[in-house]
Amino acid sequence: MQVEPFTFNPFMTNCYLCHDQGEAVLIDASCKTEAECESVVALLEEHDLTIRDLLLTHAHVDHIFGCRFFEERFDRQFKAHEATVPFIERADEQATAFGVDVDPPSVPATHLAEGDTISFGDTTLEVLHTPGHSPDSITFVHRASQQAITGDVLFQNSIGRTQGLPETSRTQLLDSITEKLLPLGDDFTIYPGHGPTTTIGRERAQNPFVQEALRQ
Ligand SMILES: [Zn+2]
Ligand SMILES: [Zn+2]
Repeated sequence: MQVEPFTFNPFMTNCYLCHDQGEAVLIDASCKTEAECESVVALLEEHDLTIRDLLLTHAHVDHIFGCRFFEERFDRQFKAHEATVPFIERADEQATAFGVDVDPPSVPATHLAEGDTISFGDTTLEVLHTPGHSPDSITFVHRASQQAITGDVLFQNSIGRTQGLPETSRTQLLDSITEKLLPLGDDFTIYPGHGPTTTIGRERAQNPFVQEALRQ
């Protein structure tokens, strides 16, 4: 599986185009402007990729700005955890709280839960439920190539925010990291919702929040 990262919008939110054998999935349509959205389409065309699925790690407003664009372009809905529903329904409220505007996507009808799989090309992504930063946070794992797209759970030197957002739990977030992500193994590459790509090994060794969680 090849992972093409993009960083979009004033919140510097990552969007990932994952592809294999000419098929692709888009994870977190964080593109806000038409030009940002079109840059993803340009890469799809450049690599001659067919979109198989549109996916969300969670539905905080900075991760969904471009959802409507891709829904209309590819005539399909985003798939997300069931707990995403109220966040999409309140997308306008979320946007107002952060002083931005959003064209809210449709409410996901297909829900992803722990253990579900998503296939494209020869790749099968596995879904882990990793709540804490948000109740709908999920991580997409590709075990064969040791890569995971984690959303706002684990960042380089940091972890997802649990203050000033609804329905967060720092304890649950640290449990998600220690019980779901660290067991993936130190060689796993992590593609986070914000900031640079990292590895489980690097974060286990250097991330102060992970070290705090491991001491508890
Ligand atoms: Zn978030
Ligand atoms: Zn975010």
